Amino acid sequence: MNRKHFLKNASILSAGALLLHDQALALHQKNYTVQDIINILIAEAKGVRLPTTVDTIKFGKADAPVTGIVTTMFPTVEVIKQAASLKANLIVVHEPTYFNGDDKKNLIANNSVISDKDALMEKEGITIFRYHDYCHRINPDAITYGLLRKLGWLEYYKNGKFVFDIPTMELKQLAKHCKKSLSLKMLRYIGSDAHACTKIAIMPGAWGSAAHMSTIEKEQPDVLIIGEGIEWETIEYIRDGLALQHKTALVVLGHSVSEEPGMEWVSEWLQKKVPELKVTHIASKDPFTWL
Ligand SMILES: [Zn+2]
Repeated sequence: MNRKHFLKNASILSAGALLLHDQALALHQKNYTVQDIINILIAEAKGVRLPTTVDTIKFGKADAPVTGIVTTMFPTVEVIKQAASLKANLIVVHEPTYFNGDDKKNLIANNSVISDKDALMEKEGITIFRYHDYCHRINPDAITYGLLRKLGWLEYYKNGKFVFDIPTMELKQLAKHCKKSLSLKMLRYIGSDAHACTKIAIMPGAWGSAAHMSTIEKEQPDVLIIGEGIEWETIEYIRDGLALQHKTALVVLGHSVSEEPGMEWVSEWLQKKVPELKVTHIASKDPFTWL
């Protein structure tokens, strides 16, 4: 066989092999149910089993066959519509569907936004699984990892501690760095522009005022970076602290945008575990218009 014929035959052979390979894949294509995906997500927090957790199905069914997966922070109406247009019927969310921490649908009676949202999800055949508690118990915490990866601070994040040192920068410079790295429209901060920041405490999302204040009392960071804080609690505590010569300044990123990089990271590793399905991250984004 001359070289030309050899190459021709070889390419026919390899095309045939590819075809066989594709057919074998199709025959063995794994069909995932919602519960299969939940099991994969929970198994990532190795050995952790929580007796009570908010990580449950908020809408839809565990035995539904999964056609595609979307990860996001909040299952907003916009995200639900985008998932449906991608033919993805499972949305893995970090935060509530129904506007309170426990996703109580009866927090107030006759909530018309909830009933309209349910009708939309029903129409689109969507299942929602909340991935919060287990997501934070992965080692390292998937949300903090994703955020620090975007901020370029992973090398300073040791032993999963959320208080650590970075190369010193002034508060305004640090705030600008956060705004740019996370592509934010805006952020807010409290403290003087030239305030030197080396020791930082990073608490994305909404840890609550007691956790914010106890971290400051115990760790005395130069700056606390949070997703959101209650204005009459954490925020006023910082203002008075600085006025009384305490050292901790504050950067408020916004809840959704502070944890979004973490859910983006979840979509990346989940995709590798379920190569037969398409996993797409859709950012919930900052809900505000800034004037
Ligand atoms: Zn969180």
